[in-house]
Amino acid sequence: MCSVLQLAVLTLVFCSVHSFTIQVCLSNSIDDDEFSVSTLIEKANANVGKDENDPKVMFGDIAVYTGLQSADPCTARGCLWPKSSDGNVYVAYRISNQYSQRERNTIVQGLRSFSRSTCIRFTPRRRQRDFVDIQSRSGCFSFVGRRGNGQVVSLSRRGCVFQSVIQHELLHALGFNHEQTRSDRDQHVRILLQNVIRGQEHNFRRIRNSRNLGTPYDYNSVMHYGRFAFSSNRQPTIVPVPNPNVAIGRANQMSPTDILRVNRLYACSTYHFEPQLKNSNIKSCL
Ligand SMILES: [Zn+2]
Repeated sequence: MCSVLQLAVLTLVFCSVHSFTIQVCLSNSIDDDEFSVSTLIEKANANVGKDENDPKVMFGDIAVYTGLQSADPCTARGCLWPKSSDGNVYVAYRISNQYSQRERNTIVQGLRSFSRSTCIRFTPRRRQRDFVDIQSRSGCFSFVGRRGNGQVVSLSRRGCVFQSVIQHELLHALGFNHEQTRSDRDQHVRILLQNVIRGQEHNFRRIRNSRNLGTPYDYNSVMHYGRFAFSSNRQPTIVPVPNPNVAIGRANQMSPTDILRVNRLYACSTYHFEPQLKNSNIKSCL
């Protein structure tokens, strides 16, 4: 069941005022989650890690360097992308020639979506040392934050070339983790480990000192897993509290809060939210 909420005024620290419409889908069945970001990623990642050239992938779609899983180098040396004197953050990218023109266009559209609402500017790589290297590997995954030199962002042609997944993986590359790993998540969701596929429990770990940037927990973040993520038995693994019927993990694009966080993390001086639903490749919940 869907209803349309008119959210009229959004006033945040840096923002101008905009009107927009979002859909809120109040549904709870596993089939309704077919197109949620985490379902798409989970499906596409069925074979991830089987290719020995791939990095180790944990937490669903986060690439890690073997041996460093417990101490994210990010925290020690800083993994933000540098800010230019003009106030923008230029992130060089390269897109593999594995993609069709249409897939490439979708990826470029995903990269450009950041420039409409943040100071992040993905730009084709020239000579930059650090860059995101977008390739079709065996699933959808990314490192968290800038790692130095070329860092793979894998967007498999089989199931990852969707606006929501592209934004999700790029948000990882910009330094963001999954919403349900936030320090305060237990006030907003209950994790039902008894329904989680054995061996996949680590996907639901909480990060005690996550940087929440003064933003509220957001069920509609494109970084939030769906209700049935890593379920072994078609029963929910994440249930919102106190209201278990609230839709979670159904975003098909960055939420206003996702955008606000990028703007806060990178100290962007402008902020606005533009809905891009009509350009989305993913069926929404009509
Ligand atoms: Zn992820």
